[in-house]
Amino acid sequence: AKTAGRNTLRFYDQQMQAVIAARVLLEQELRLALIDNQFRLYYQPQVIDRLIIGVEALIRWQHPQHGLRQPLDFIPLAEENGLIVPIGQWVLDSACAQIKAWESHPQMEHLQLAVNVSLRQFRQADFVERVSCIIQHYAIRPHRLKLEITESQLMENIDDAIEKIRALRELGVRFSMDDFGTGYSSLANLKKLPIDQLKIDRSFVKDILRNDDDRIIVQTIIAMANKMHLEVIAEGVETEHQRDFLILNGCNLHQGYLYGKPMSLATLEQLLTESIDD
Ligand code: C2E
Ligand code: CA
Ligand code: CA
Ligand code: CA
Repeated sequence: AKTAGRNTLRFYDQQMQAVIAARVLLEQELRLALIDNQFRLYYQPQVIDRLIIGVEALIRWQHPQHGLRQPLDFIPLAEENGLIVPIGQWVLDSACAQIKAWESHPQMEHLQLAVNVSLRQFRQADFVERVSCIIQHYAIRPHRLKLEITESQLMENIDDAIEKIRALRELGVRFSMDDFGTGYSSLANLKKLPIDQLKIDRSFVKDILRNDDDRIIVQTIIAMANKMHLEVIAEGVETEHQRDFLILNGCNLHQGYLYGKPMSLATLEQLLTESIDD
């Protein structure tokens, strides 16, 4: 029995080592990916009434062996080990370069570009300077850029958040509260935050037509946003029923598979060029 126990231990030990080795490898690969320019931005339309008014930039990793990898495969680890900071910096820089490039496209120049900012990135003491530096570098109009920050992120140190948001909004940068409804912000805190938009989390939109609670939550968020003169966008809109329900309840700005999945730059530009023709 003693030997069996020892063998089991050794087995777990080997498994642990394999897990650790995989993490170390992934971390090395992520560092290389930054140097080697393997990250890509995909773009998902944000739509009012079939008109694309903006896009959300979503990161992908063009892995040399494993193909296109999704954020869930690497963002959580990057958030743990801090690589999310240089990765996030790359995202911001690329997004602003894209805004600049679109200025000379009549079909693209009106687009707002939303960028996800992670907690560690936002927490940097010089976050405001970093963003304003990039904006100046590309000489873009700041209101083309929208930063998406999650509710829990904002609540962690609300005074620091307010200060940073205020400084960037003074420049013209816009702010959206991402995953709204999943955190624990009080209405008092919400009132204090100088944001432009609430983004209703997909988890509530998903069951809007089946689940009474979700329906009431969504209706309440929309009513509250409208009262507070905040823009409100629903994410994860997949069906016409969901769309109709949202419009009926006062939310016209949508994002989701019904309108388009995250797509490459080439596909987006093609889509926007075509929609002018019809
Ligand atoms: P998120 O910010 O909540 O982004 C929305 C996610 O929902 C995206 O997943 C998008 O593809 C997906 N989605 C959009 N519409 C639908 C729909 O109708 N149905 C379904 N089933 N899904 C939909 P994605 O691209 O895999 O990104 C996952 C998460 O990874 C994002 O959640 C965000 O938290 C994070 N992420 C993505 N890009 C970045 C980035 O550049 N920086 C940081 N810090 N995080 C990022
Ligand atoms: Ca987002
Ligand atoms: Ca979400
Ligand atoms: Ca999110």
